[in-house]
Amino acid sequence: MKKKLIAGNWKMNGGLAANEALLKALRDGMAAIASPCDVAVAVPAPYLAQVQALVAGSGIALAAQDVSAHEQGAYTGEVSAAMLKEFGARYVLVGHSERRQYHGETDAVVAIKAQRALALGVTPIVCVGETLAERDAGETEAVVKRQLAAVIHLNGHCISEIVVAYEPVWAIGTGRTATPAQAQAVHAVLRAQLALASGHAERVHLLYGGSMNAANAAELLAQPDIDGGLVGGASLKAADFLQIMGAAS
Ligand code: PEP
Repeated sequence: MKKKLIAGNWKMNGGLAANEALLKALRDGMAAIASPCDVAVAVPAPYLAQVQALVAGSGIALAAQDVSAHEQGAYTGEVSAAMLKEFGARYVLVGHSERRQYHGETDAVVAIKAQRALALGVTPIVCVGETLAERDAGETEAVVKRQLAAVIHLNGHCISEIVVAYEPVWAIGTGRTATPAQAQAVHAVLRAQLALASGHAERVHLLYGGSMNAANAAELLAQPDIDGGLVGGASLKAADFLQIMGAAS
């Protein structure tokens, strides 16, 4: 059975001193977990070098929060997949709903970004999820299937090389979590779609994200198609993030 993956998304939070304190607490806490799940932290780009040094040898993988759709060149402010690779990023979030919502990222752009990451050996964590309006209109399944379809046949890559995170937009940062049954229902849809496309559907990590916390993680992670979590707010508090890791280990 594959290990669960717990990825923290720090979003635009952190600072040199705060990062150091948080990662020290995580390292110390993880030492007490007998067989920890896979763990990653997605940090703001300026802190990649600092966090790369701080997580060395800890079992915590480094992740970035976004990658450019371009390889290199005149794209002011962008960070390429090659740059992420150079700083030891193992994963990169792609198509987070905040990127789709505030930066107009389309399914096509998300697919190009995932392709760029894969080309450099950085695993994309592709985020999918419906808005509240889409859920209320009964469109959840159609929306997540469309978003997943965009990345299911990336050139020259097997679907098992990507991680998929189901993050209902209405549950992100709102304190409102999908119930385990609601989350599992969507994960089952995604797994079935993956199975139609590939013989490796079971190998794909399907993460749940949206107000996952120390209190609700165990029940969510017990669902058969939930292979881990993408954790925002609770990943900034060492005690909470450690409890979520504990529930996944
Ligand atoms: C996220 O940013 O991906 C997320 C799930 O945030 P939160 O856990 O704070 O809802």
